[in-house]
Amino acid sequence: MNDCIFCKIIKGEIPKKFDFESEKLVTFPDINPSADIHLLIVPKEHISGIDEIGDRGQLLVEIYKVVKRQVKDNNLRDNSYRVVVNGGKAQHVPHLHFHFLG
Ligand code: 5GP
Ligand code: ZN
Repeated sequence: MNDCIFCKIIKGEIPKKFDFESEKLVTFPDINPSADIHLLIVPKEHISGIDEIGDRGQLLVEIYKVVKRQVKDNNLRDNSYRVVVNGGKAQHVPHLHFHFLG
């Protein structure tokens, strides 16, 4: 997917500092944050949306490990946080991503 903005970020074609990188995913701040902490958790593989995740169970496990670490590192357990995945017309970037909002 040549013209996918998140693929370009992941390939380094658009410079971006990752907060975290593993074999399967990267995390970086949302360019237009809608919370004090607004992180995007993005699989390196181009998956168009949550409905195309198939049987990639290990990817979901890794994503929720990132969530757990964010909650811990930011002391959010007694605070509010949300994990959001948009789909259909509510999804603007057609490369699967989880919003972590704290
Ligand atoms: P969606 O509506 O697809 O769930 O959310 C896409 C999100 O990606 C939006 O919150 C938007 O601010 C963010 N975004 C779009 N383009 C870029 C970009 O080039 N860099 C970063 N860091 N975030 C982006
Ligand atoms: Zn992509």
